Amino acid sequence: MRDDDVRSSCFAALDVLQAKWGPDIPYAALVEGFNFRARRVPFLNRAFGIYRASGQRGPAALSVNSSYKQDRYQDEQTPEGVLYRYQGVDPENHFNRWLRNAHVLDVPLVYFVGTRPNWYRPFYPTFVERDIPDELRVLLTFGRMRGSYDEREPVHITDAIERRYEVGLVKKRIHQAQFRGAVLPAYRERCAICRLREVRLLDAAHIVADTEEAGEPTISNGLSLCSIHHRAYDEDLVGVAPDLRVHVSRRLLDDDDGPMLAVLKGFNGVTIATPSKKVWRPNPDRLGMRFERFLAT
Ligand SMILES: [Zn+2]
Repeated sequence: MRDDDVRSSCFAALDVLQAKWGPDIPYAALVEGFNFRARRVPFLNRAFGIYRASGQRGPAALSVNSSYKQDRYQDEQTPEGVLYRYQGVDPENHFNRWLRNAHVLDVPLVYFVGTRPNWYRPFYPTFVERDIPDELRVLLTFGRMRGSYDEREPVHITDAIERRYEVGLVKKRIHQAQFRGAVLPAYRERCAICRLREVRLLDAAHIVADTEEAGEPTISNGLSLCSIHHRAYDEDLVGVAPDLRVHVSRRLLDDDDGPMLAVLKGFNGVTIATPSKKVWRPNPDRLGMRFERFLAT
């Protein structure tokens, strides 16, 4: 018994939640669950990680999760996928049996990753590719939804290169989401340049490119910027000097076309907003490295 109907209702409900909230979903919205045969079914069990819904008839898990820890994300990432720990040390306890049954039955599940306190990014379909009882863990890999919008179907990625590519994408998304989850609150969820406070329009911009993609998100290498300022910063149309002042490029300043441009130009010379904690503030050396690039263009 694979519970394909429960799984597809769950994935469809997550599609709707992501359309509403963006890729990361607050726990408060997840806790309401999804509709299945006129019942509300929870998406996950935060306390135990491995979850099977009581309405399921089959024996395999519906979702697994890794909550956001103070120190950070703990699952081990490999080029083949993510190594996810069993619950406790008994491979035969009911949680671990649900997880291992998902491998035996080869069913798709949801992998929820905490990207900041009380926010989760769901990855689905995820498969339990390998069961490694000796190490008390499984290898999770990522599939794809295929087909038209109303008849989407979870499928494995069979090509090894494509599969690695997908794993790489997932890692990158987790890192980006956790970076954003760390940077935005440090800036009290506003654009450092224009102070816009609409969280859906805010990004975490890297000051210098991140080489340690799987590493801990470094707030001092980030700036909370609205989409326009992020784009302008990436394109070197706007720069931030090590003294925290905003410089608008000559190209924009010399141009006079329309009110939007006036909005961009208006921030020339202002000092950016910074986090209250010293260690979170933009690192002056990194700002300097980046500012040289701005000056050179
Ligand atoms: Zn802005």
